[in-house]
Amino acid sequence: MAAIIRPWTRLRGPRFTGRERPLPDFGLSCRACGRPLAGAPGDACLHCGTAFDVEEWRPEREWFVLDAALAGPLPIPGVQALIAGELVPHFPVGELSLAEIYGGRSSTINALRVPREFYFEIRWLLQRALADLRAARAARGRGAWRCAACAERNPGHFEVCWNCERPRATEE
Ligand SMILES: [Zn+2]
Ligand SMILES: [Zn+2]
Repeated sequence: MAAIIRPWTRLRGPRFTGRERPLPDFGLSCRACGRPLAGAPGDACLHCGTAFDVEEWRPEREWFVLDAALAGPLPIPGVQALIAGELVPHFPVGELSLAEIYGGRSSTINALRVPREFYFEIRWLLQRALADLRAARAARGRGAWRCAACAERNPGHFEVCWNCERPRATEE
C-alpha cells in the first residue's frame, strides 16, 4: 500500500539544530545591543560580547505557530509554498477546517504550525527568502520572475508572488 504523504508528514530531519557555529543567519538579534548575532563563532555577540543562549528562542510547544510575527513581510501562503518545496512538515491554520481546505475549497490560511525541531531551519529559510527578495527587487536576480498581476519582481524559487499572493504564471 502506498504511503500517504501529507504536508505534515516528516520526510527528513531538520537542516539546523541551533547549535551550529559560527551561528547561521537565523535572524536573531543581540538582547543587549540589538545587532545581528549571525556569524558569532561562539555563544557571545560579535559586536558587544554579551553572551546569548539560542534556547531562549526555541519554542516551548511541540508545534510552534509561524505567522506574520515571524514571517515579517512574507505572506503566509508564499511561506507555505516555500516550506512545502523544502519538505518542511507543516499544518495550515486558517479560518476553514482542514477538511474544507483539502476538499478543494479556497482557503484563507493566516498561519502555519511547524514542528519545533524545524524552528531554526524555518528562521534560516525566512532570512534567505528575505535576502533573495531584496536581491530580486534591486536587480535581476537569477531566475527572478515578474508577477503578471502586480508586476512585482520575485525570486526564482518563490512559487507565489510575495506581494499579491498570485501563483507564478505557468506557460499558457
Ligand atoms: Zn551585542
Ligand atoms: Zn503580484
